[in-house]
Amino acid sequence: MHKPYCWAPWVHLQHGNVMGGTTPCCEWSGDIHKGSIKDYLYSKHLRKIKKNMVKHKGYSKSCQNCRQQERVGNLSRRQILHQDKYVQTVVDSWKDKDILQPGLNNIVYLDYRPSNLCNLKCRMCGYKNSSMIAKEQGIELEISVPAEDYKNLDMSKLKGVHVIGGEPSIQQDLYNFLDYCCDLGLNNTLQLSFTTNATNTNKTWMDKLSKWKYLKVEISLDGIGPTMEYIRHGASWTTIEKNCVVYEEVVGKDKIEYSIVATVYNIPNVEDWAHWFLKKNNVTIWPVEGIPHQTLDAIPTGILNKKLKYLKSYKSVAWVNNLINMIKMAKYNPKLNQELKYATFKLEKKRPGSIYEVNDVYKEII
Ligand code: SF4
Repeated sequence: MHKPYCWAPWVHLQHGNVMGGTTPCCEWSGDIHKGSIKDYLYSKHLRKIKKNMVKHKGYSKSCQNCRQQERVGNLSRRQILHQDKYVQTVVDSWKDKDILQPGLNNIVYLDYRPSNLCNLKCRMCGYKNSSMIAKEQGIELEISVPAEDYKNLDMSKLKGVHVIGGEPSIQQDLYNFLDYCCDLGLNNTLQLSFTTNATNTNKTWMDKLSKWKYLKVEISLDGIGPTMEYIRHGASWTTIEKNCVVYEEVVGKDKIEYSIVATVYNIPNVEDWAHWFLKKNNVTIWPVEGIPHQTLDAIPTGILNKKLKYLKSYKSVAWVNNLINMIKMAKYNPKLNQELKYATFKLEKKRPGSIYEVNDVYKEII
């Protein structure tokens, strides 16, 4: 048996209305299976994905996010899975089996994305992940996943559930899912992780979390103060900073990861916000996905070179080192810069605030 390029189609599952169906993982950029989890696990669609993985071909588009993470030096979802000891035990148990036989799955990790309900309109986000953006654009998210279909998934072998939004802390569908897991006693065995914008530490939410023994929280920030408030439209830095303290106290500092998306709206003024993240233990930085004009390729090289000079002093810090790699890989593209100007001013007509108020450096770029 050839080791597949990625084991996710066998051991990992992403499910929910945010992605409009079921896929191997939340990084997946390929076709999506609409319908129930059971149908998906026995579908021709999944068999084709597995075949491509075994042949090590046909995944360049669907797995582009993992490939990009690996290029900049981040651990991709694929690498994390392949290093996972439990996943290793599962796949070792298949060594005498035809891994393409229908229904050969052992779902170890579930990404659950029930809804796009969110209270923010972040600039690198889209209508699928934010109901506020959907409303702004006059789009309604298609509900293509049967409600509570997760009840048809055999959860006895699950090791972890990761929840991504929308914003998990305000979603009734997620509350129901967590209650269901608690009724099965999974809150004592499963690791629950979620990505939050930290706008909210309401009592109902924090009470639900307190029932879980193994928790991990990823807080998406992208900067502090005016930088964060410009990017994450609708957020107040004062509130979020307080909520970060609440999460650190309730969940534990070592269980919190601060996550930054590197875009054209935060890297040019990295000096304004990096100091806050340099005081945190666990920080990751990711290239923006799916919006070419917000990538570092839209920033003139001279400006990025000045950032490299500043960042060099902190290059022993892992996230800074990854940012340095991203900057070094950037290639200025004037066409993207033109698109950036157009998109920025177009959106500023709909959403109050000006990038020029964040830092004067933006007058040289946009
Ligand atoms: S390589 Fe990445 S995107 Fe592709 S299936 Fe694996 S985890 Fe998902």
